[in-house]
Amino acid sequence: MTDGALSVEDSFDKHIFILLGPPGAGKGTVASRLVPLMEAEHLSTGDLLRSAALDRESSLGRQVASLMSRGELVPDQTMTSILGHALRRLSAEKILLDGFPRTTVQARMLEEELAGINGRVGAAMLLEVGDQTLVERISGRLVCGTCDKVYHKVTLPPSQQGICDQCGSDLKRRSDDEPATIRNRLALYREKTAPLIDWYESRGQLVRVDGEGVVEQIVARAWQALRSDKSFAGPGGANG
Ligand code: AMP
Repeated sequence: MTDGALSVEDSFDKHIFILLGPPGAGKGTVASRLVPLMEAEHLSTGDLLRSAALDRESSLGRQVASLMSRGELVPDQTMTSILGHALRRLSAEKILLDGFPRTTVQARMLEEELAGINGRVGAAMLLEVGDQTLVERISGRLVCGTCDKVYHKVTLPPSQQGICDQCGSDLKRRSDDEPATIRNRLALYREKTAPLIDWYESRGQLVRVDGEGVVEQIVARAWQALRSDKSFAGPGGANG
């Protein structure tokens, strides 16, 4: 019965939404603007790892820093344990995951983790972006060394060149945005992460979003796609 099915769905404590897409697709930028609309919390594994990598005293910090600087993936087991801790710390009912899962092993581990905290994956949103746009976005990307706010030289410039609007620190290129590292990250995306598109599609959980154009347009499309999806219960949502 429909009512019965809905009440089971509503009984979950955590609803996870996933942002999928290649490096440079704009996942972080879209996520940070989407979470207030969704009334969700943003969980970026890239941000978690960048913080972990600052601790050169710990072996985890050194391992993560070395893998990231080469554009390699952090091992699935390590990632899942980092993600599991982070998920349990967040109090929000809805979480927008950015950068996880990146392999089908991680997707399976996420399901197991969610079973333990009465959570479920709602939808996986794929930001679809052509190769030319990826190269342009990555080559112009700048980040704040202090607060991690992301800019783009052309499409999202700071008010004052080279200075963060939010905290006034210097902006720099991300160390893994160098051309050789980017080639490796794109190759890994195609080999390890792209299979997740079929994985979520076959479960009826994939939502495709055109990721070309300016940030406002992309966010508006993503929000429209998400709130009309059956999985989304919340402000303005199909199931709210
Ligand atoms: P991102 O900020 O999402 O582009 O991630 C930056 C880097 O962090 C990636 O190139 C990987 O080295 C690492 N990373 C982030 N998330 C994951 C993940 N789920 N699995 C493995 N490595 C990850």
